[in-house]
Amino acid sequence: MTLRLLGTGAADGWPAAFCTCASCVAERLAGRVRAQSAALLDGTVLLDCPPSVPLSAERLGISLADVSLVLHTHQHSDHFSPATLMYRSWSTDRPLLVAGPPDLVEAAASWLPPDTSVEFRAVRPGDEFTHGSHRVRVLAAAHRTGLGSGEPEAVLYDIAGTSRTLYATDTGPLPEQTVVATTGAEYDLVVLEESFGDKRDHGTQHLDLTTFPEQVRRLRAVGAITDRTRVVATHLSHHNPPGPELARRLAAWGVELHPDGAELLAAEQPAPERGPLRTLVLGGARSGKSREAERMLADAEEVTYVATSYPPGDDPEWRERIAKHVAQRPDRWRTVESLDLVALLQAPGGPLLIDCLTLWLTRIMDRHDAWDDSAWRDRARDAVAAEVADLVAAWRRTERRVVAVSNELGQGVVPEAAGTRRFRDEMGRLNAALAAVTEDVRLVVAGRTVGL
Ligand SMILES: [Zn+2]
Ligand SMILES: [Zn+2]
Ligand SMILES: [Zn+2]
Repeated sequence: MTLRLLGTGAADGWPAAFCTCASCVAERLAGRVRAQSAALLDGTVLLDCPPSVPLSAERLGISLADVSLVLHTHQHSDHFSPATLMYRSWSTDRPLLVAGPPDLVEAAASWLPPDTSVEFRAVRPGDEFTHGSHRVRVLAAAHRTGLGSGEPEAVLYDIAGTSRTLYATDTGPLPEQTVVATTGAEYDLVVLEESFGDKRDHGTQHLDLTTFPEQVRRLRAVGAITDRTRVVATHLSHHNPPGPELARRLAAWGVELHPDGAELLAAEQPAPERGPLRTLVLGGARSGKSREAERMLADAEEVTYVATSYPPGDDPEWRERIAKHVAQRPDRWRTVESLDLVALLQAPGGPLLIDCLTLWLTRIMDRHDAWDDSAWRDRARDAVAAEVADLVAAWRRTERRVVAVSNELGQGVVPEAAGTRRFRDEMGRLNAALAAVTEDVRLVVAGRTVGL
């Protein structure tokens, strides 16, 4: 079973031809062009037929001559072009089945003469039918078209042959009935829309980089996505960061980004690679390092967020800051305030997000009175070194997925006070010692991330 991506762009494509935003310019400079989303399964099943499909297929060297089934998701004009069916009728009268929601099928039929060899089939969620060697299951989408009165207005498809694919665009957060319907499906391939990138206030029934990993998590929780499933993002707009950055972000959730024309072999495919166990995210103040760390675990089921930042005494400004951070995190994340990172790293369990090591070191320095010069000489130096060594050892041996955030200090002026200088030096040493036993180290600068 093979699936060719005929297009992976949103309605306006990416880059958007009339646009000069940074995302569009970056993609244009790199020569990456994404047409409206569509795909071809085994050369015979066309998934959506936007106006761009015939020319995209021709330019990609993909023949549509053998298409015998068109599965339409909905009537939006970036997915459905009845004129294309008419153009097809000028070249061939080979049999064709056109399926889609009732209003779409009615609109399509009006473009062809009554004696056509094309058949139409109105579908609804829950419908199943066989076409050639493919078994098609219709699922509900969270997407309204505002066109026609047919219910439903938009659907998704689950197609099984020698392997099994879920084609899910357009949709907002998946309806619960759809997630339930995919229970145990163990898809080989999931093609899922991710229209809006970092734009969260779009107010549309589409996914973005915040809601997308949540759907991946839900599908994983019911066994629709397994360790063997390839998950591919589609329906991409210029609200996304440029290709390489988008690919990097998706990869953290085990999701792939492919260009138009990519051939995804749903059978005989290598299992997707598993991600790193230990990630260290370094950066300056307000660089975006905590966001980077949180994004990496956005698809995880149960994350323990380890706050090392609890204030000494009762500082209302700190409390407010922490409350704001907690509110931004998913409900299923658990927050613990602890300095005992060794115990957490040694305990079995789900992913840990430690934010941050700089405050941890501050508290450890407090604990041993290490800011004081004579205390440092007498005993604190050894005590702090022992705590750091224990942390590094536990980090190296941990079997949990762990992402830790730390500050990259010491690039400005040399602090005047000896205690502050010591802290800066110890921080640098701790970062270097952890990085030496970490498979994934990242530096965040001005919201941009580079791998070290
Ligand atoms: Zn669309
Ligand atoms: Zn743009
Ligand atoms: Zn749509």
